[in-house]
Amino acid sequence: MKIVEVGPRDGLQNEKQVISTEDKLAYIELLIGAGHKRIEAVSFARPDRVPQMADAEAVMSGVQRIDGVSYIGLVMNERGLDRALATKVDEANIVIVATETFSNRNQNMTIAESLKGLEAMVSRAKAEGLQVTTTIGASFGCPFEGEVATSQVTSIAKAATEMGVDEIAIADTIGVGTPKDVRRIVTAVKEVTSLPLRLHLHNTRNTGYANAFAGYEAGVISFDSSSGGIGGCPFAPAATGNIATEDLTYLFERSGIEVGLDFARLTEAAQFITEKLGIVTPALLGRAGWFPAPEHTR
Ligand code: MG
Repeated sequence: MKIVEVGPRDGLQNEKQVISTEDKLAYIELLIGAGHKRIEAVSFARPDRVPQMADAEAVMSGVQRIDGVSYIGLVMNERGLDRALATKVDEANIVIVATETFSNRNQNMTIAESLKGLEAMVSRAKAEGLQVTTTIGASFGCPFEGEVATSQVTSIAKAATEMGVDEIAIADTIGVGTPKDVRRIVTAVKEVTSLPLRLHLHNTRNTGYANAFAGYEAGVISFDSSSGGIGGCPFAPAATGNIATEDLTYLFERSGIEVGLDFARLTEAAQFITEKLGIVTPALLGRAGWFPAPEHTR
């Protein structure tokens, strides 16, 4: 299984404390040092709506370009894609939301309109050599509509597959899912696509890690997480963020599933960014330590 580090994007974007470009670059460097190969580094959202991501261009022009390390930019619309292409991200992660109300609030479009937009964006991004992921937001529950029908998710997955995307990500944007939901949704999505699947989980209700493991057992191969578990949620102000990279790494590695990240350096990256944010990390591994302790910390 592979971890996509989303700390610099989803982790930071809902944190109030604005992090300087220089610190973001130092953070990304630490993440690469820990062994990360795919990093969601920026979002091309409107700077007035997501001020933390306003320096996306500066971040992308400052990152180290290393063979085998891929930088992902989150894209909501054509203007975002223009910026993504100009900054030379390696991958575009284009979001489609699974419910009409959320789609309208988030992107000011119906689902049909956003799928039409997706088709145009996918062909442009692919023509420019980018890898493209479609993330299906609010797949497990909507902050406005509540329950989300499985068919809402599968119809978007099917449409995106036909448009030629490279990967489908299923997002529990507000952190309401359970392992049973993961099995139901992943199984249904696998019936409509043979593309690699990625899960984007939040630990809002403490089900994130159980959900990740259920996803792995159901055939998902990539998981989004943020170091330290940073990242709030705009719809649940008191909520914790993404599942934490170091805790997820522990869960998988101790289960005999190779992740390929360095625990000590992961916690170093988490410590760096949580100090800059002035928060205590929701992640637990940095406090408890690995078991058994790895050689270099003995
Ligand atoms: Mg998220």
